[in-house]
Amino acid sequence: MSIIIGLSACLAGQEVRFDKSHKKSNFVMNELARHVEFKTFCPEVAIGLPIPRPTIRQVIDNGVIKVCRPDGSGDVTEALAEYGQKVAKASGDLSGFIFTAKSPSCGMERVKIYHIDEDHKATGSEMTGVGMFAKQIMEHNPALPCEENGRLNDPNIRENFVQRVFAYDDWKKNVEADLTKHNILQFHARHKYMLLSHSQKDYKELGNFLGTSDLPTEELASHYIVNFMIALKKIASRRAHANTLMHIQGYFSKHMQKEEKAELTEQIEQYRQGLVPLMAPLTLLKHYQRIHPNEYIGNQRYLDPYPADLRLRYGL
Ligand code: SF4
Repeated sequence: MSIIIGLSACLAGQEVRFDKSHKKSNFVMNELARHVEFKTFCPEVAIGLPIPRPTIRQVIDNGVIKVCRPDGSGDVTEALAEYGQKVAKASGDLSGFIFTAKSPSCGMERVKIYHIDEDHKATGSEMTGVGMFAKQIMEHNPALPCEENGRLNDPNIRENFVQRVFAYDDWKKNVEADLTKHNILQFHARHKYMLLSHSQKDYKELGNFLGTSDLPTEELASHYIVNFMIALKKIASRRAHANTLMHIQGYFSKHMQKEEKAELTEQIEQYRQGLVPLMAPLTLLKHYQRIHPNEYIGNQRYLDPYPADLRLRYGL
């Protein structure tokens, strides 16, 4: 079963924007598309707005955020929110969502909100809005990995998003589809070092939570996965990666010659200092895993979190 990601339709190259243009994302359509399927949504077209159409924007009107035309006509706030809720409720098959940045409907964050006077003239603005459609999707499922096209140009954010999508898909297929405490613990076990590379604090807290909680399985699962996905959203620092690599190195120490150990330690230290990319110590560790296979390390998603041909770790 393939991985399905929700996608703002204009990012797929569909000419659905207000001026009949698109915002095709090359990374999404040429690279990510090799490994996932997309379900596209254009909320503005779905609620009946034409192509082309007058622009709409978010405004604060008496403390309430609305989406309408610059002159105040054509209020589509409710229609967008209702459509968003409908899509959110039917989004159980999605393992991620990529939104179009800055859009009053699809923007994930920092959407422009205009302050207006009684004649609908803008008196100022703030970049604190969330697209009316995107808001419903994100609020309905706080565990769903979400990103927007502009941010995906940053190699760290891109890698982080794809890693979250593959981890969440693993959860959906191997835990959600067969919800038992055993499957939750197995998921946690194979993501331990991935979690450690994002946050030592969350690594400890989630481990303790699973070890001590007597919540019913469903509640345990929903608390765990929301907090796991929040933890994974924290960008893994060089220091945290180096710490994780050293933990993994410990599993092979007894098989290694003194010089081999020194070489690997030096690679990890050079990575920590920013002198070599993450791939350098990782490749060495995978080499030791191949010649001295360790079942526990072999199961760790940290070593192969997504298909290698996406080349997402080359820039880290
Ligand atoms: S940003 Fe969203 S609403 Fe606007 S054209 Fe793209 S898919 Fe449609």
